[in-house]
Amino acid sequence: MTDRVIAIADSGRAKPLPKMGVLRAAGPLADTLGRQIRDLRISVTDRCNFRCTYCMPKEVFGPDYAFLDRSKLLSFEEITRLARIFYSLGIEKVRLTGGEPLLRRNLERLIEMISSIGELDLTLTTNGSVLAKKARALRDAGLKRITVSLDSLDDRVFRAMNDADFPVAKVLEGIDVAHAVGLAPIKINMVVKRGVNEDSIVPMARHFRGSGHILRFIEFMDVGATNGWRMDDVVPSAEVIKMIDADRAIEPLDPNYEGEVAGRWRYKDGSGEIGVISSVTQAFCRTCTRARLSTEGMLYTCLFASSGYDLRSMIRSSATDAEIAATVAAIWRTRADRYSEIRTAETARERKVEMSYIGG
Ligand code: SAM
Ligand code: SF4
Ligand code: SF4
Repeated sequence: MTDRVIAIADSGRAKPLPKMGVLRAAGPLADTLGRQIRDLRISVTDRCNFRCTYCMPKEVFGPDYAFLDRSKLLSFEEITRLARIFYSLGIEKVRLTGGEPLLRRNLERLIEMISSIGELDLTLTTNGSVLAKKARALRDAGLKRITVSLDSLDDRVFRAMNDADFPVAKVLEGIDVAHAVGLAPIKINMVVKRGVNEDSIVPMARHFRGSGHILRFIEFMDVGATNGWRMDDVVPSAEVIKMIDADRAIEPLDPNYEGEVAGRWRYKDGSGEIGVISSVTQAFCRTCTRARLSTEGMLYTCLFASSGYDLRSMIRSSATDAEIAATVAAIWRTRADRYSEIRTAETARERKVEMSYIGG
């Protein structure tokens, strides 16, 4: 196979796929910094019914925004084939995301298909808007656990942040139904933005304390190129921890596994656990084992990438599974990404692929 540049994708540039000659024999699949490939995040749609100001601001993702054409999306068969190939390379965990993954029709079918691949930790991140309706079908299809995003319990604040006037109550109902059908543990993601929802931190912690759900506070990140990120808008996790500790004492916990993204804390009185995802103030690139597959089959080796590798063209050609696996392996072996460790005000302004496209 010759070195070739595949057509530019709708979002982000395509890098040349490596030559077969560069491929090496099987062995532990580690990148240039010794990080093994372990997780695959799959974006199943670039569309969303929310317009969270930190992710898909309305001014950019307005009524005229051109989302990907259906023909460009990977089919469930194509996604499953790629997931199987990644599994053969050592992936242990798959997360379905987007955009809003529950907007992809018949997603349960994809969950069934991926579940049949093997011993995979399969999960999904959702804004919870249609979770009450879908939780049971997702569980029946083989989903074990779920992450739901919720930025505030204050209806006014939440409606403003999702910018779709969507009420808190419906997301809470989705969480309750997910819990009732046995999706556990449920993780709740709260993006914290200075001056926007800081006042929601302690009420959120109080609400989920003792529920068995794990609330995780995420630092506002400079993903994409449209969310107007400024360092001043980031509330460092250390500040969040201090606020919660002042309300009810907490202490740090060891990570569940090497490379866990969230720093873990527990209430000293035994009423549960919280997490902080400090991608801005305490970068965790050193242990980053995640690959990302976009809705149209581009492979990205970092959330902050500006270009990826077009795997869709390979699977729509006559390439065999072994050839695709060898190509992915060659890509991973040359990976050197560590964006969060080298972030500056300059890099924050660089053009990057949008999170709704690459998958959060
Ligand atoms: N639509 C689903 C949802 O919101 O859960 C899945 C996709 S979303 C891109 C995945 C996660 O990324 C969500 O928890 C969301 O809050 C988070 N996220 C999006 N933009 C972010 C940003 N600028 N900084 C930090 N987290 C962000
Ligand atoms: Fe949609 Fe999720 Fe992005 Fe919000 S964070 S706009 S729910 S994709
Ligand atoms: Fe991984 Fe890139 Fe995030 Fe670093 S910046 S943790 S390499 S996705």
